[in-house]
Amino acid sequence: MDEFSLIEQFFQRNSLLRQDVIIGIGDDAACVQVPDASQLLISTDTLVENVHFLNSWDPYDIACRAVKVNISDMAAMAATPAWVSLALTLPKLDQTWLERFSKGLHETLALWRMALIGGDITRGPLTITITIHGFAPTGQVVQRQGALPGDHIYVSGDLGAAAFAVQMLTTPSMANLPFTSKEQALLLNKLLHPMPRTDLTLLLREYASAAIDISDGLSADLQHICEMSRVGAYLIDNDIPRHPLLQRVATPNSPDWALTGGDDYELCFTIPSEKEADFLSACTQHSLRCYRIGIIQSEKGLSIQRKDGRIEVLPPSGYQHF
Ligand code: ADP
Ligand code: MG
Repeated sequence: MDEFSLIEQFFQRNSLLRQDVIIGIGDDAACVQVPDASQLLISTDTLVENVHFLNSWDPYDIACRAVKVNISDMAAMAATPAWVSLALTLPKLDQTWLERFSKGLHETLALWRMALIGGDITRGPLTITITIHGFAPTGQVVQRQGALPGDHIYVSGDLGAAAFAVQMLTTPSMANLPFTSKEQALLLNKLLHPMPRTDLTLLLREYASAAIDISDGLSADLQHICEMSRVGAYLIDNDIPRHPLLQRVATPNSPDWALTGGDDYELCFTIPSEKEADFLSACTQHSLRCYRIGIIQSEKGLSIQRKDGRIEVLPPSGYQHF
């Protein structure tokens, strides 16, 4: 099978073509129509075998996750995801692998009504690079900068399960955990199929002063908001929503998966106090539950009020490739 028939068989799908795709797969470049009075947002994420996923994973799950982590970057900016391109590096031409992978890819794209508009295929160690393009009404994107002292800090859902699942997969001693196989599958699903929070996009545009998606861990990602906004943050430990199953394995010595573990792809954002009441009633109206976990302060750095009242300074953290 040559490269062109491979693209045709696995990647070229016309059924879901959006009206705004003027030129899709097949030419030297794609051409899309950005809506009037909108700004284009572009983001790239690469997933490398044995760094971001294991080769034992179902290629279907790998594809879903690759698309979703990219969608999450759009959600973090309050942008509407629209188009993706895919650069795929494969060690060999494995039809079964490609079938599962492209199934996950197209299914996930369809869920968000997105279109695959181009890409590239090369030979080498398995690597998946997706570039996502989205848009937002001019002036309405939400950035990491913009948080001000007094703004309240929110997260969009409970944290820690994905990071715990990573540990579950990589530590043999985790084999005899106090979880049923159904519960283990649920935890694993949090890692394999994160749910990018595009349901918050309209609310963020209207109410948030800054936002980020939690890929590296709450403390690391909140730190990015603080650095870009030149502020600090004060967290209330007790108010951080942790995945309920983690209570069963939490000991005084276990890592705080919710605070330092990544991969949940919930959003962390800040709401100015004068907008908070309207924000909360909008949440109720849309049946969305968000959790207030702290406050932005002018004093730099991250501190946290522990359950016993102690105030602790959190060290800079987060995953670094180099
Ligand atoms: P070029 O030689 O100009 O780089 P290619 O032969 O790499 O073109 O690709 C031909 C067409 O197929 C292009 O429109 C390209 O965007 C698309 N394409 C290549 N690989 C992929 C892929 N993995 N997924 C989607 N489209 C792809
Ligand atoms: Mg090419």
